[in-house]
Amino acid sequence: MKILPTKNLKSYNSFSLNEHAALILEAETIKDLIQIWSCDEYSEYKKLPLGRGSNTLFCGSFSGIVVLNRLFGKKVDELEDSYLITVSSGEDWPSFVEWCVERNYYGVENLAMIPGCVGSSPIQNIGAYGLELKDLCESVEYLELATLTLKRLNNDECLFGYRDSIFKQQLKDKVIITAVTLRLTKKWQPLLTYGPLASLNKNGVTVKDVYEKICKIRSAKLPDPDVLGNAGSFFKNPIISNEKYADLLIKYPNIPGYAFGNKKKVAAGWLIDNAGLKGFEVNGAGVHKEQALVLVNNGNATSKDVLELAHYVKTKVFEMYQIELEHEVRFYSGERETLLSELFNERAF
Ligand SMILES: Cc1cc2nc3c(=O)[nH]c(=O)nc-3n(C[C@H](O)[C@H](O)[C@H](O)COP(=O)(O)OP(=O)(O)OC[C@H]3O[C@@H](n4cnc5c(N)ncnc54)[C@H](O)[C@@H]3O)c2cc1C
Repeated sequence: MKILPTKNLKSYNSFSLNEHAALILEAETIKDLIQIWSCDEYSEYKKLPLGRGSNTLFCGSFSGIVVLNRLFGKKVDELEDSYLITVSSGEDWPSFVEWCVERNYYGVENLAMIPGCVGSSPIQNIGAYGLELKDLCESVEYLELATLTLKRLNNDECLFGYRDSIFKQQLKDKVIITAVTLRLTKKWQPLLTYGPLASLNKNGVTVKDVYEKICKIRSAKLPDPDVLGNAGSFFKNPIISNEKYADLLIKYPNIPGYAFGNKKKVAAGWLIDNAGLKGFEVNGAGVHKEQALVLVNNGNATSKDVLELAHYVKTKVFEMYQIELEHEVRFYSGERETLLSELFNERAF
């Protein structure tokens, strides 16, 4: 275990917000995690496990201890028709995907370039280009904090949903994910259903072609957090009833909607863009000029700027479409997780 000399979280959240924690620790082994969560010295503090901080917004200083996950290692078991790859939770997700592509382990390439740690991937069931983590996940190993013992859930038990899983619900704050096992089939079928991938020829295409295409699209479309602080999609795509969607179509004939069970998923980015908010700024925080779903730190944003901007966007969207946007990004304030709606009831901006 390492105690970092700094308490500044700027390098540990992809928004690059200049906030602080009471202490920042690095856990390199499961033993480190057990020590941190059991020792008397840290017992009075809340502890927050953090991967790369690319889905996290610190809404002020965090008065607890931030524990950076640095558990590394991979293991491959070859079966007749598939590979079972077990990856320690601190491994970098984009590097892991690249590693798979280089070794011809197929199936994970559509999830290229999603920033963060492998251990965070099941939490919100990361997804892109028609694929979600749930489609590949065999099981998730975790440290149960009440007993400090290792447990495992298989895919069904993880209760995966759209940007959701048991780790955001019943097991929230109760476990630290230590490893994820993926099952990657040897019989590869390229997944090219998502619009921009349709230009690839299904018959001749290789895993590398798909990977490179996705990297190219993502690099052109999304701001690089190392250059422009952001946490990817700030809001989830709202799920609304078919009736509500039909009503909206009358007023907004171009509103994109996708079947989602017996409901419709609408593109939050379109709602924001159509509200004329692309490029809208509150001090140092802005709605990205190309991708309305991404809020960015234009250089010197404070958490207050980002929160005010998020609140403004949410209010405008509600006024126009009577749709309540939910943020995908996890908010932390004081020593606990919070929500935009709670902060705006509590604070007088
Ligand atoms: C440019 C950009 C593009 C993105 N694109 C996508 C995309 O296409 N699809 C998508 O789904 N997401 C996307 N995201 C969001 C983000 O990449 C994912 O949510 C990712 O899984 C976050 O990983 P992280 O390690 O940075 O999580 P963090 O922000 O570090 O943590 C997120 C949450 O998980 C908790 N946590 C972290 N590690 C553990 C652990 N080991 N055990 C228990 N709890 C833990 C934290 O306490 C926090 O609540 C994007 C983000 C950015 C910045």
